[in-house]
Amino acid sequence: MTGHGCFGHYLYRIGKEGSEVCHECGESDDTAQHTLADCSRWSAQRQELVEVLGDGDLSLHNVVDRMLCSERNWAAVASFCETVISQKEAAERVREEDPNAPSIDVDGVAEGEHVTVLTYSPIRTTNPGQYGRLATY
Ligand SMILES: [Zn+2]
Repeated sequence: MTGHGCFGHYLYRIGKEGSEVCHECGESDDTAQHTLADCSRWSAQRQELVEVLGDGDLSLHNVVDRMLCSERNWAAVASFCETVISQKEAAERVREEDPNAPSIDVDGVAEGEHVTVLTYSPIRTTNPGQYGRLATY
């Protein structure tokens, strides 16, 4: 199941500052799980996600299972991830413009390099364009 691996790229991007202090809420453990389930910064987005999933269990394992259940679930999780990533990256750019900010480029991806982070092509479809989803950053 490629979905797990691809979702992992999302989680990696969300949690790429993992083990550092969360810039959003000050929590000392900024991991993908923290962002997804705990961080107060994303409570509104999390509420929408839970409503779509119909399941408040935001453990990574459960979320991956739920998002592979339906295209709607997938879209909701992808939307959450995209919102978090775009806002985190915007905040990151602000920090990068601050000469006193610590370096946080730890993911090995050069600035401007395009990274495909998400693909979704369930076996049941023969038309990837219909169900497939591809995001390039
Ligand atoms: Zn946080």
